Amino acid sequence: MYDPLHHTSPGENLAYPDSYWADSLGLKPKIQPGLEGEFDTDVLIIGAGYTGMSTALHLAREHNIEPMVIEANQTAWGCSGRNAGFILKSTGRMAWTAMQKKWGEEVMRGIYQEACSGVDIVNSLIAEGIDCQVQDKGYIKVAHKPSMMAGLEQQAKLLNQLFSYDVEVLNRQALHQQYMRDENAYGAIRFNDGFGLNPLKLALGYEQLLAKSGVNIYTGTPALAYQRLPDGHQIKTPNATIKAKKLVIATNGYTPKGFNPVVNNRFLPVLSQIIVTQPLTEDQLKSCNFLTSNVVMDTRALKYYYRKLPDNRILFGGRGAITGKGAENPYYANRLLSVLKQSFPALDNICYDYAWAGWICMSLDDIPHVYEDDEIFYAMGYCGSGVSFSVQAGKRLAERVAGVKIPELPLYQHGLKKFPLPALRRSGQWLYFQYGRIRDNYL
Ligand SMILES: Cc1cc2nc3c(=O)[nH]c(=O)nc-3n(C[C@H](O)[C@H](O)[C@H](O)COP(=O)(O)OP(=O)(O)OC[C@H]3O[C@@H](n4cnc5c(N)ncnc54)[C@H](O)[C@@H]3O)c2cc1C
Repeated sequence: MYDPLHHTSPGENLAYPDSYWADSLGLKPKIQPGLEGEFDTDVLIIGAGYTGMSTALHLAREHNIEPMVIEANQTAWGCSGRNAGFILKSTGRMAWTAMQKKWGEEVMRGIYQEACSGVDIVNSLIAEGIDCQVQDKGYIKVAHKPSMMAGLEQQAKLLNQLFSYDVEVLNRQALHQQYMRDENAYGAIRFNDGFGLNPLKLALGYEQLLAKSGVNIYTGTPALAYQRLPDGHQIKTPNATIKAKKLVIATNGYTPKGFNPVVNNRFLPVLSQIIVTQPLTEDQLKSCNFLTSNVVMDTRALKYYYRKLPDNRILFGGRGAITGKGAENPYYANRLLSVLKQSFPALDNICYDYAWAGWICMSLDDIPHVYEDDEIFYAMGYCGSGVSFSVQAGKRLAERVAGVKIPELPLYQHGLKKFPLPALRRSGQWLYFQYGRIRDNYL
């Protein structure tokens, strides 16, 4: 599998992975040939995931700028077509309580507004007619051990007090009776506005909205070489040369090795793995009391997440291998299956029909960054939580490109920080996984 820390290109015109989402499209989309020729554009966007498409859509609709978008493989071939489809109010990995402590209440409120706006934009784009299998509203954060309930209750209280956010506290019995009998869950808090959807259908819906605005995505067109010009940038792809006044990097966790000094060594791509089970029978659903289609995540340092899909399959996710090479090993999917069975012992005979992985993009300070350096613009580092925030980031990035002032928040005021000893990022990740395992199981 492509590994951004080792390979200098994510490939050229590769098909979607064999995921549940790609299968849900029915016929596989036709693979188009890449771009050929010489081009001049005001704005070139590299990467057609949610970030690249949102930036393009906002440039076209709100700033009257028609960008060119190139994508190495297929539209949303990266994370945007592989994720779990949880729409949550989030901006990276940092907890609201930590933001309040670090920057004070006003800044934390500002960031919260950005997260809300991300969800609002996704909802309004869906309302333009994107059929992406939106499920019932609700996000359940479960305590994976009894001692985690105090922290969850504190979080619910804070959100309630500061934002009148209606967060419900559920004890183990209420959770088991009203939502699902997860034996690894010792209670939970429930937000009434998160939800699940089909992430690839969402992405292809964005592509159609873009087409209506006159913006095409050139798939099968990897950016391979970069040169700074006196009046802009030049990008070479296998069969095209593109000159652009402004360049947008929207490659996130899939950014190849040595891609551009502006982002090199400033992120850590981490594999997240998903399995999707066979459809559960009525008996299996009953034995687990699996009533809910709410999206669920736990309190572990190394989180597990799951949801019941519209056809009664369970999507279950968590950390994957450390390297792209390791991603092919079925050990990681089987490990998820065994955790799923611990949570729901009645599913002891269940198998999975689909397994795949994708690279999430970690930043050193646990928050995303939307920034400009030397007329190169980027939005990256959603830390595994970017389905809605990437759309807000795209909106802010488009404003930056168009020269519009954006809010003064830590997300936008400075760029991604360089990792100290970047060559050791994977060793650091391995150490963190060991720490997480001990913390989650024994502390
Ligand atoms: C398994 C998994 C589960 C997840 N679940 C959730 C979830 O439930 N909720 C949530 O909020 N977030 C989730 N995420 C994270 C979320 O999917 C991402 O934050 C989001 O999709 C990022 O979108 P993006 O457009 O920035 O990047 P991507 O979608 O990764 O797009 C980057 C694109 O750039 C292209 N590219 C790279 N290099 C080049 C090049 N040289 N030339 C041209 N193109 C290039 C790639 O091919 C890729 O298509 C999950 C991620 C994974 C992997």
